[in-house]
Amino acid sequence: MGKKSLSSLNWISRFLDETPGDGIIGGAPRQVPGVCWSRVNPTPMPNPALRLWSTEMAGELGVESGEDGLLGGNKIAKGMDPYAQRYGGHQFGNWAGQLGDGRAITLGEVDTGEKILELQLKGSGVTPYSRFADGKAVLRSSIREFLCSEAMHHLGVPTTRALSLVTTEEDVVRDIMYDGRPAPEPGAIICRVAQSFIRFGSFQIHTMSGDHQTLRILVDHTVKHHFPGHCTDTDVGLIEWLKRIADETALTIAHWMRVGFVHGVMNTDNMSIHGLTIDYGPYGWLEDFNPDWTPNTTDAGSKRYRFGRQAQIGAWNYARLLDSMAPLMEEPEKLYEALEFYYEAYQKHNSGMWAEKLGLEEFNAGDHELVTELTSILQRVETDMTIFFRLLSEIKEPNIDHLRFAFYAEDAIPAHEWNDWLNKWWSRVSGKPSQEKMRRANPKYVLRNWMAQLAIDAAEKEDYSVAIELYELLKRPYDDQPEYDDKWFKKRPEWARNRVGCSMLSCSS
Ligand code: AMP
Ligand code: MG
Repeated sequence: MGKKSLSSLNWISRFLDETPGDGIIGGAPRQVPGVCWSRVNPTPMPNPALRLWSTEMAGELGVESGEDGLLGGNKIAKGMDPYAQRYGGHQFGNWAGQLGDGRAITLGEVDTGEKILELQLKGSGVTPYSRFADGKAVLRSSIREFLCSEAMHHLGVPTTRALSLVTTEEDVVRDIMYDGRPAPEPGAIICRVAQSFIRFGSFQIHTMSGDHQTLRILVDHTVKHHFPGHCTDTDVGLIEWLKRIADETALTIAHWMRVGFVHGVMNTDNMSIHGLTIDYGPYGWLEDFNPDWTPNTTDAGSKRYRFGRQAQIGAWNYARLLDSMAPLMEEPEKLYEALEFYYEAYQKHNSGMWAEKLGLEEFNAGDHELVTELTSILQRVETDMTIFFRLLSEIKEPNIDHLRFAFYAEDAIPAHEWNDWLNKWWSRVSGKPSQEKMRRANPKYVLRNWMAQLAIDAAEKEDYSVAIELYELLKRPYDDQPEYDDKWFKKRPEWARNRVGCSMLSCSS
């Protein structure tokens, strides 16, 4: 008996069956009005080789082995009907028109018997939506997406998943810092998996072009398969569904704030309708607690997508989704109710996360002050967010000495202020913080930017051991794994402070 492979899965294609599509197959980049997708096959690669594989994701799909050819886009299995999705989006606050899957191609949906999941190759060549680019992906960005999606999943943060990473043995040319120095880099393809890859921008594109019929079809399709129990035929029903999206979006952003994740490119085309973290580009993790930090060099000027602003940007993006639903409403002004609900949902989730981070039984009105003071002192001197909260989950008395390891310069710690705050917190929890709860809210290991970079440096020399070690480590981010502490439970090393790929990331991927 051979091992169960991807080819032998039950492939279906509900999206193609139920929404309007392009009559032309494949083709050069172009405008494709009035459709939700275009059929297009992955471009064959010279020599796909499977390098990283998520056994957890494979388990969910019921597959035991990866096939290099299929995961590299060289083989199409029976039942697959590959396509690129058409969507639009607001990029950095401006309507950008048609975007779409420029370098992602959906192979199809897999019906496992328990659930239905969409599988997509990222980096497998041009589609009608590639605009001026090549549809390819480089190894460094593919490693970052593979490791981060799986790490986020194990952190309990809603996310698209990664099944595999293959290298293609094809060079891809990128000008990494956009400074006129293009260079060849190794190419790679990841296979990513989600309930669907429908985004806020998937709806916006139809409203923006006045195509209310296609908008209605897409809403019906989305609700029928992904939001069973909802009915969007009336204003009331539509608002109820939109509130559910608000809740899921707010929850995910509250999780980002809990673990110190900065998405980096929260354009509306990168907002999943399921509230999943999607499109890992120039994302980053906070090292020192700095709400103004963004990893994205393209956004360095205005820092629109900085850490501390993610909840507000979530609201702005959600308001654009609401705008796009206006043509389906009898009384569109009622959409404000959904926007207000987003703010309430975020408050609720964010307070809940703080209660967990600080080991409170529940979050009371008075706790706002405790949190505000904490986030303010955390910014006084360079302080590692992850280490700080982890050590806080372990201390036995309110004394800053036990948290020294979280500080970059131990002689600069504002000890007096800290001890005041710690005492306040300690009496708030009556000397008994729920530290078990805290350890499940404050991860010990996250995919710090320099950790991903070390995995990339090794992989570019064909050594995948670091990537595999990180993938294994980050499966249990809340557990103590002392054998790894010297290597991975530590502050950002000095070499990473100003290195490209660690403190600065471009959209070039
Ligand atoms: P992003 O900001 O990465 O979400 O990408 C914005 C848009 O550009 C999406 O429509 C992508 O599909 C497209 N895109 C990004 N990189 C490439 C590439 N190398 N080739 C083709 N399209 C791309
Ligand atoms: Mg995108």
